[in-house]
Amino acid sequence: MRILVVEDDAGIASGLRTNLQQRGYAVDVCDGVASAWSALRAERFDAVLLDLGLTDGDGSELLRRLRQSPPAAAATALALPDSATPVLIVTARDQVHQRIAGLDLGADDYLAKPFDVDELDARLRALLRRAAGRTSPTICHGDVELDPAARTVRLAGKPVEMSPREFSVLLVLLEARGRVLSRLQIEERLYSWDAAIESNAVEVHIHHLRRKLGSGCIQTMRGVGYFIPQKTEQ
Ligand code: CA
Repeated sequence: MRILVVEDDAGIASGLRTNLQQRGYAVDVCDGVASAWSALRAERFDAVLLDLGLTDGDGSELLRRLRQSPPAAAATALALPDSATPVLIVTARDQVHQRIAGLDLGADDYLAKPFDVDELDARLRALLRRAAGRTSPTICHGDVELDPAARTVRLAGKPVEMSPREFSVLLVLLEARGRVLSRLQIEERLYSWDAAIESNAVEVHIHHLRRKLGSGCIQTMRGVGYFIPQKTEQ
């Protein structure tokens, strides 16, 4: 899952980056409204953590523009951000009227600084869960059960060892169940700008996942990409 952190305090930004990366997220950081808008136009993010007081303006302006953007399908063609991208405001402005204004502007959640990283991560998981249309905190698909909070996977009730990247590939495909994702779309969700991507990394992860979960779990649409079918074959 890929997160855009929009934060002008370099210390907070680097702390967030380190903490979220340790929790398996790919993280990119922008310090202003203009740079964040460019990032949102260029890449798909699963969620945005948004500070309000930024170097070149107010984060609420970015949120307003994002919510006025078209929905995902049209947005891609126009090189605009997906208006439904979940946004969690993280700010020192903690007055009740400020929280209300932020939520009314289209933020999905609001967290006041200083914050606890465990709470931030829990709120982020809740946003990602809602964005994927899930109500249950775990994702079940046939014999496979994935727990995003504990970062564990079980197959028929037995724990399956996997690397952080393998876990992320599985999570991305499960959240997109029924849709084919290209290798590039998967990479975009797994790697931040500064990460080195090996050319066949996604293929290798999928090969390992099939070995661990059974060959039918992840399917290939030749020349297009990979998908997990909506329904499991019994
Ligand atoms: Ca700030």
